[in-house]
Amino acid sequence: MPWPGRSAACPQAAQITIHRGTNEIGANCVEITHEFTRILVDAGSSLDGSPTSLPDDIGEYSAVLISHGHQDHYGLIKDIPKDLPIYIGDVAWDFMQSLRIFTGKSPLPSRQRTRLEAGKTISIGVIAVTPYMVDHSSPESFGFLIEANGKTIYYSGDFRAHGRKSRSFNYLCSHLPKGIDAMLLEGTMVRRNNAEFANESAVEEGMVDAIKNEPSLVCLSCSAQNIDRMVTAYRAAKKCGRVLVLDIYSAWILRIAQKLSKNIPDLKWSGVRVLSHNKAASGQYQKMKQQKEYFNDFVQELYHPDNELWEKDLHNSPSKYVLKLGDYWVAHIIKSLESSTVIYSQWTGYLDRNTPTFNEYAAALKELPGVKFKAIHTSGHITSSDLERFVAETKPKRIIPIHTEHKEEFHRLFPQTVVLDDEEMFDIT
Ligand SMILES: [Zn+2]
Repeated sequence: MPWPGRSAACPQAAQITIHRGTNEIGANCVEITHEFTRILVDAGSSLDGSPTSLPDDIGEYSAVLISHGHQDHYGLIKDIPKDLPIYIGDVAWDFMQSLRIFTGKSPLPSRQRTRLEAGKTISIGVIAVTPYMVDHSSPESFGFLIEANGKTIYYSGDFRAHGRKSRSFNYLCSHLPKGIDAMLLEGTMVRRNNAEFANESAVEEGMVDAIKNEPSLVCLSCSAQNIDRMVTAYRAAKKCGRVLVLDIYSAWILRIAQKLSKNIPDLKWSGVRVLSHNKAASGQYQKMKQQKEYFNDFVQELYHPDNELWEKDLHNSPSKYVLKLGDYWVAHIIKSLESSTVIYSQWTGYLDRNTPTFNEYAAALKELPGVKFKAIHTSGHITSSDLERFVAETKPKRIIPIHTEHKEEFHRLFPQTVVLDDEEMFDIT
């Protein structure tokens, strides 16, 4: 039986409803229903700040799965009823809590939560879900193979083939069942180009060139939660004989990421220091102090003589360092230097002042005297050519575009495309 009150052409079929995400990049919110089991896959907020909300009857769902720790996939998590089970990666959860703390919000109270693990199938009522680890700019990201009523659905989440975990992409190509009945595929890049820096290795080479050509301080504008990029920055700094200097927040994020790999740079490493004193550090220090028990011994570690750094160190020996701070504080440090390089390592769309996602602090760095501003970035999302490769390998019966501003473009790429609108129910027959 379908859920009471819902109309379906085929009452026995499993159904997909994309509540939001068919016409935009972000705000992903997808329902899979079979019989009396309903799961919500992602609970994202919009990237442009437009209002989003969970389905009105969220309390009637069986569970919520969060694919990864980006707000356009988890941003509504605070509104999920406390007794509804949530499945989420451990690191994704900790990243979310940390971002809340460092942006002045209190952490979410502890709640019923199960850790997602790649390959470990979860049974939720009559629906089975198997998470697959994917390569993305958030370090613990999953796609979901969903089985219901003898049919298969794959939800790609956000993924790519050109990051530091590109092996996950090859694994996915060879291990996903062939001929999936309905594949929800992200299409962020269907009309975007990633050619200038095609992968993380190209970004690393670009950073090395930029650092070598700068006799003074090099600063980095990027997301600390993009762990691939933080690894790239560390490697580039090391190749140029420089130390990577972090703000407190970035150092903490890297500490959380140690759960995934001990090869991720950490403040204990000799090539990493933390700007833990003076104005640029005081705001983050205060926020950390308010949640002392959450950070535990990390506070003492920050102020160990091997780890700490002062602003005067940066001004006295700028050529020794690559500095990763928030953009506002980068400006504070470099305004008194005659020369510096800013490596802008995010999507250049954030620099367009005519869009709602405009980042005024990053854009302001471009205008500072003596600054060489270099955009060196590769996307967190899959290119069109890799999408084609993925589809050629996995041969899905139907492809449903999501996380895209150009869903009609999928018809050109894939004849088996089924375009849905937000809130349109689709039977998997
Ligand atoms: Zn993402």
